[in-house]
Amino acid sequence: RDIYGARRNSAGLEFGDRRQLSALVEGMGKAPVSVDAVPLHPGATTRGNERKAVSPADHDRVLGSVRFSDVDDVDAVVRSAQDGFTRWSRRPVEERAAVLERIGDLFEENRDRLMALLSHEAGKTLDDGLAELREATDFCRYYAHQARATFGEVRRMPGPTGEDNRYGWRGRGVFVCISPWNFPMAIFTGQIAAALVSGNAVIAKPAEQTPLIAYEIVRLMHRAGVPEDALAYMPGEGDVGAALTAHPAIAGVAFTGSIETAHAINRALAAKDGPIAPLIAETGGLNAMVVDATALPEQVADDVVMSAFRSVGQRCSALRLLFLQEDVADRMLAMIEGAARALKNGDPADPATDIGPVIDAGQQAMLGEHIAAMRRRQHVRYAGEAPKTGTFFAPHIVELDSAAALDKEVFGPILHVVRWKANDLPAVLDAIDAKGYGLTLGIHSRIEATAKAIAERLDVGNVYVNRNMIGAVVGTQPFGGTGLSGTGFKAGGPHYLTRFAQEQVVSINT
Ligand code: GLU
Repeated sequence: RDIYGARRNSAGLEFGDRRQLSALVEGMGKAPVSVDAVPLHPGATTRGNERKAVSPADHDRVLGSVRFSDVDDVDAVVRSAQDGFTRWSRRPVEERAAVLERIGDLFEENRDRLMALLSHEAGKTLDDGLAELREATDFCRYYAHQARATFGEVRRMPGPTGEDNRYGWRGRGVFVCISPWNFPMAIFTGQIAAALVSGNAVIAKPAEQTPLIAYEIVRLMHRAGVPEDALAYMPGEGDVGAALTAHPAIAGVAFTGSIETAHAINRALAAKDGPIAPLIAETGGLNAMVVDATALPEQVADDVVMSAFRSVGQRCSALRLLFLQEDVADRMLAMIEGAARALKNGDPADPATDIGPVIDAGQQAMLGEHIAAMRRRQHVRYAGEAPKTGTFFAPHIVELDSAAALDKEVFGPILHVVRWKANDLPAVLDAIDAKGYGLTLGIHSRIEATAKAIAERLDVGNVYVNRNMIGAVVGTQPFGGTGLSGTGFKAGGPHYLTRFAQEQVVSINT
């Protein structure tokens, strides 16, 4: 279904209907964003630690305050979720799926407030906010459908006469869902919805930067019929996440964030007692796009700018490393720069804005340091101008001597460019492969055989040919990477739910 007549899961920087857009902005203006009464978990014995929430676009704008949980409360929260699991896991799949669908409906009904929170707390532009709201809703409906298809029926397995072998699925136990600030609604919802519909209880720890939107979502999930003890909201710093993943009773973890944290969680799970718990991780990418001399320049410019700068480059899927064939590089770079120059960086709630702020001062400083290091050794050929309020960071384009000059994911609006000569394509692909990541890859070529050969050569989860490389659509482009980019199964894909559940076979002598 569409919201405001705009394309569903739109990856474009445009809207369907301007009139309805102004109705949205008006609705958002009326929706309260200040949340002061976020309660601590009912089982908590400490008073938590107070945290002020400010808008990344304007630090003078205080949105409210939240009490972050204390590590000392982890055990009580896990115990309460264990109780929740016993009851929730026994509910038929159909009931759990119907609850997910109600959550999706409530998201649509509460659009204005959710949009206001996405804009003020996470700095999301209107089109990014709408796309995220739709993606979260899609996750609920898609996983409801997948749960019915995967877990809905107990299957009779073939066997000898006089024996009945029934194969089915059940939840694992208490799942910890740890989600990032860059998709504080879509990824937060996707992880929780998948774990719940598969029959688990969930302890949700949102990113430190986006606890308010997370609280609102959890409230709507409870309102839709998820029992309070089957879904606990546990905002906190990294130490709370670490204590949760080390707790012996935990049956699984869904995590989206950095590869370093994923490794730390993996070690914690390996070291803990209790059930052997799976880790479903979606980590970063050092995503490349390869453009050859046959590509259409206008299309390349559009798709590069969209892939590198939309959402201020704060997507795992974003383009970081652009490989341009030498013969066309100058012309294409001029067009890309022109398109980057035209982007409006500013207030995320203003319909004219293309890109909003980065999430916080830490990210802003990290990006600044990266550009300073690049200025010493490489060629920074374009530096945009950013507003001075809040934590903005403008798009930058850096030309590198070689791909070796970039060895880590830099999470923001910085495009790195490397030129390649006609015979060097195998070396380009080796350089991409050597990074060890495998999330997204873009290819621009009008020679079908070239595109096919590149896609086959590289071990990458999502490959996009002659288009932009962000905005994977639930159920259409299941999303997730290989190697340093994640464990699989892909979010929004047909197998994602199976890692959250376990099989059971009952053999009856009849
Ligand atoms: N699914 C998003 C996309 O395709 C990226 C998710 C992320 O940044 O973690 O753009």
